[in-house]
Amino acid sequence: MGQYDHDGKRKVLPLLPLRGITVFPYMVVHFDVGREKSIAALEKAMVEDQYIFLVTQKDEKVDMPHQEDIYNVGTISKIKQLLKLPGDTIRVLVEGISRAEIKSITKDEPYFEADLAEREGVVDIEQDQQTLLEKEALMRSVMDIFEEYVKLNNRISSDIITSIISIDDPGQLADIIVASMFIKNQHKQQILEAFDPMKRLEILYEILQREIEILKIEDKINARVRSQIDKVQKEYYLKEQLKAIREELGDKDGIIEEAEEYKNNISKAGLPKEVKEKALKETERLIKMPDGSSEASVIRTYLDWILALPWNQETEDNLDLKNVEKTLNQDHYGLHKVKERIIEYLAVRQLTNTMKGPILCLVGPPGVGKTSIARSIARSLNRKFVHMSLGGVKDEAEIRGHRRTYIGAMPGRIIHSMRQAHAKNPVFLFDEIDKMTYDFRGDPASAMLEVLDPEQNNSFRDHYLDLPFDLSKVLFLTTANNVDTIPAPLRDRMEVIYINGYTDEEKVQIAKRYLIPKQIKEHGLKTKSIAMSDNTVKDIINLYTREAGVRNLEREIAKICRKSARRIVDEKVQSIRVNSRNLEKYLGIPRYRYGKVEEKDEIGVVTGLAWTPVGGDTLSIEVNVMKGSGKLELTGQLGDVMKESAKAALTYIRSKSEDLNIKDDFYKERDIHIHVPEGAIPKDGPSAGITMATAIVSALTDIPVKKDVAMTGEITLRGRILPIGGLKEKVLAAYRAGIKVIIIPEQNKRHLKDIDQNVKRNVNFITASSMDEVLEHALNRGVK
Ligand code: ADP
Repeated sequence: MGQYDHDGKRKVLPLLPLRGITVFPYMVVHFDVGREKSIAALEKAMVEDQYIFLVTQKDEKVDMPHQEDIYNVGTISKIKQLLKLPGDTIRVLVEGISRAEIKSITKDEPYFEADLAEREGVVDIEQDQQTLLEKEALMRSVMDIFEEYVKLNNRISSDIITSIISIDDPGQLADIIVASMFIKNQHKQQILEAFDPMKRLEILYEILQREIEILKIEDKINARVRSQIDKVQKEYYLKEQLKAIREELGDKDGIIEEAEEYKNNISKAGLPKEVKEKALKETERLIKMPDGSSEASVIRTYLDWILALPWNQETEDNLDLKNVEKTLNQDHYGLHKVKERIIEYLAVRQLTNTMKGPILCLVGPPGVGKTSIARSIARSLNRKFVHMSLGGVKDEAEIRGHRRTYIGAMPGRIIHSMRQAHAKNPVFLFDEIDKMTYDFRGDPASAMLEVLDPEQNNSFRDHYLDLPFDLSKVLFLTTANNVDTIPAPLRDRMEVIYINGYTDEEKVQIAKRYLIPKQIKEHGLKTKSIAMSDNTVKDIINLYTREAGVRNLEREIAKICRKSARRIVDEKVQSIRVNSRNLEKYLGIPRYRYGKVEEKDEIGVVTGLAWTPVGGDTLSIEVNVMKGSGKLELTGQLGDVMKESAKAALTYIRSKSEDLNIKDDFYKERDIHIHVPEGAIPKDGPSAGITMATAIVSALTDIPVKKDVAMTGEITLRGRILPIGGLKEKVLAAYRAGIKVIIIPEQNKRHLKDIDQNVKRNVNFITASSMDEVLEHALNRGVK
């Protein structure tokens, strides 16, 4: 500024209107110039002494300003550098020199030119002591307040404080401070127009104060807004951080990724709305769980369950009943009536086109093919098959599951089975529905009722899932050994089909056609590798099994296959012939004697017939009479009803003692002991009445009982004979045991038509209505 001596000298200079900035003395600044008129002013300055007058436009938006559009006070500046930029723009670097006021515009084309009066230093007069102190105080105040401003305003570097500390000129201090501030141009202009340095500081002080106020309020608002945003974002950031930490720790499949995968699978699974919503909610919960926490694994298990269940998968039914018939015949020998009933049942279902209606219940002893028929039904309908045993189920939770709040809770067995089925319309077999019990933990039968009820089972609620599952498309079947022990409300919903035991001949056929080929195949043998005659099979049946069905028979056959397989591998034999002579080599010592018939006629020993849920059985009743005081003793697992009928038998004998040739006071000096040996299965029921009576009479009269006679019938006090149940099973058992004569109650005669022809050919049936008839046929009077 050497050429200027700050005396308010007049000077004519080209004028450049500034947009949006104010240039102060001491300030080095650059700006871009694009307007033609401004470029012309620059050019003029450059050809002269590079001085130019810079003055701010009142409204920066005005493109072609006139005198009234610009302020009156600006800064005379020196151009330091010009740089041509692409386009017609020039970047100018200038240094502010001194304030000046426009006296007049001397020219406005092709650029503005103004006559100026310099204003720098005009008040620079002698100052007294007082003024100097005031100046000092004002400067300090401004510095202090500026420092506070810098602290609050993070857009200004705090370096500026150090650079202004050494300034002792109040005007310069104000100029440098204001130049560094981010404030409106009007305010900057105010400072520029304050020619008196002290005045300038005062105005600056006010401006700073205002700015600080504004900054403080801004801060408050920011803090408030930030805390709102923070809440939303905090979680996100934390999750991101967590993810990062997990990745850092090498946990590649982090919980977040896992949750994403769950979400994906859930949306792909096509779940019912309620299920989907619940699953997504659980997924959200999973994200919040610390990995490895037990809660997280509870949620995982739950989600896995939801995803694994067949909410809407279905198999297509094969509705061709001919095909059903074919399949049932393929899989099972005989059972014509059973097969017929099943086909009728399915036909009705098809016509009514619902799963409503009674539930089929296959009733019969073990091993007669109930389960395998159910499996065949599934196969023939092209449905999946699942199977659940209710034997021993006494807790409702086994069926319906535990609530998830229980530790280690799981869905109930129904849902377990549905998961296995992979389809919502399987054939679902409940085995042993007669073996359910109940205790304090709730009644499983009532849960079963809900499962089997077509009105309710479209939204079956398992405690664990806590979501409705649709069971209405399931074809339920049940099996039982004994109809009587099925809980009554369930029984009412059932259509019962009885499957009786097989005769030996039927068993031979089943073995030949089904069991042997099946076992040979399962043991990896060739069809021709084992040869077995019908008689051998019969021996297996008689010496190694005693059952209504064929389960043990199949087991024995499997044993033969196992041993044969070993011989074929070890000894390199081609094929094996199993016959009656070498049977023991494969199956060990026979477990049963051939038939149960006694070796010879015995006194006090009678063969009775019993019905048990596992099929008919023979039971040999023994009576011994000894000296004593008239006690009646009963041993061998006898039920109450059987004890009652023993007493009834005795009463009858006492009343008829004369006719029977027994001393009429026999009961006073003798004890009678009745025993039923081989009592693994508890025996009860009234049907052993005539058997016990016969045994007692034989023991008291010393007349032996014919060894090949068996009998069944209830006795009254007067010696009449009442009908009994389970005749078919009993007869089969007697036949298996080699009995030749069976005495049955007269009133059971009509049931003989159901007895297998083969049995009728080999067994002589005698019907009796009174005890006299029974004794007549049973006692071998010829001996005595
Ligand atoms: P349950 O369910 O009545 O106890 P299973 O269905 O388990 O009896 O039958 C036992 C075995 O006997 C199965 O291998 C089954 O295929 C076979 N079986 C039973 N009855 C017959 C039959 N009539 N024809 C062919 N195989 C049969």
